[in-house]
Amino acid sequence: MKKALITGITGQDGSYLADLLLEKGYEVTGMVRRSSTETYERISHIKDKVNLIQGDLLDELSLMEIMEEVNPDEIYNLAAMSFVPTSWSHPVLTGEFTALGVVRMLEAMKRICPKAKFYQASSSEMFGKVQEVPQSETTPFYPRSPYGVSKAYGHYITVNYRESYDIFASSGILFNHESPRRGKEFVTRKVTDSVARIKLGLMDKLYMGNIDSCRDWGFAGDYVEAMWLMLQQDQPDDFVISTGEENSVRTLLQVAFDHVGLDWEKHVEIDKALYRPAEVEKLLGDCTKAKTELNWEPKVNFEQLTKMMVDSDMKLVEKEIQDK
Ligand code: NDP
Ligand code: GDP
Repeated sequence: MKKALITGITGQDGSYLADLLLEKGYEVTGMVRRSSTETYERISHIKDKVNLIQGDLLDELSLMEIMEEVNPDEIYNLAAMSFVPTSWSHPVLTGEFTALGVVRMLEAMKRICPKAKFYQASSSEMFGKVQEVPQSETTPFYPRSPYGVSKAYGHYITVNYRESYDIFASSGILFNHESPRRGKEFVTRKVTDSVARIKLGLMDKLYMGNIDSCRDWGFAGDYVEAMWLMLQQDQPDDFVISTGEENSVRTLLQVAFDHVGLDWEKHVEIDKALYRPAEVEKLLGDCTKAKTELNWEPKVNFEQLTKMMVDSDMKLVEKEIQDK
């Protein structure tokens, strides 16, 4: 039985990856932060099937102890401060988690379990002010937020450890991916949750930032499969994971409101306070390498994804109303 260690198991991707690895027969250990209240909602359905061990990206000793205890075959480093706006209000903490956290993980692995395979959760936010369209593994980075800058460090330190110490370390440059388990502060989930609340009469107005911004949105369930595939290869490498379809926030609003028979323009207002100090206007990925070398394909498109999220939020909000 293969053993996998997932940091960030309580997050969106960690929970989908744990589902996938359990299905494949792995013994799954998740690293969780100590907290006064548990944040295990996304893994409540598999809590009895995974081992949870406390650790923190800020504490190298905790990482080494976990690796000693688990002796994993595969390590998926998904933990990070992952929300772009918070990276401006907490730039130093973002650097500690999202940048230096990666080298702490790599160093612990090098010392304790150098034969393990390592996956780093890199991000399309590294492309930032894009230098070419679409973006591939060879597109230069131009990050536009402390989050993007930290992810660029995490990416390059992964490449550097691979080249310096001959360890198996791969980096997945994932474009935005969403699901019913996405955090509610991200734009897709903010919209689908609000659509459900408006439809069911709990709110009337939705305040948005820059709705001309465009993203290449995919489904998290498809993207965790690409993470796993990267660690099944003979050689470590870097891969862009995307759908190759670009849509604006405006289109997201239209598809989500249309799905429940509402006119988005009657409910949405722009709040300039939600604009960012520096914006990533457009992201569009070219995942030809992943298609060719990993035999990976996205299965869920933007419209299916948006409708899936609206349907899920309708059920959640209906239940919230019933439980009141
Ligand atoms: P989430 O924000 O949903 O999850 C982040 C996870 O990291 C949570 O489990 C959180 O734990 C954990 N975490 C945060 N800080 C620490 C810390 N100091 N020590 C230990 N654990 C910590 O992110 P996603 O699942 O969406 O993303 C997974 C990874 O992929 C992240 O690194 C993200 O930056 C990256 N990524 C995501 C993309 C996306 O579109 N979703 C796109 C590209 C990259 P807790 O529950 O305790 O807060
Ligand atoms: P990001 O790509 O990781 O920053 O993911 P987000 O989902 O947070 O944001 C995607 C895009 O939506 C960005 O260009 C935001 O500026 C834009 N956007 C517009 N309005 C909002 C909003 O109200 N909340 C969020 N989170 N993003 C918004």
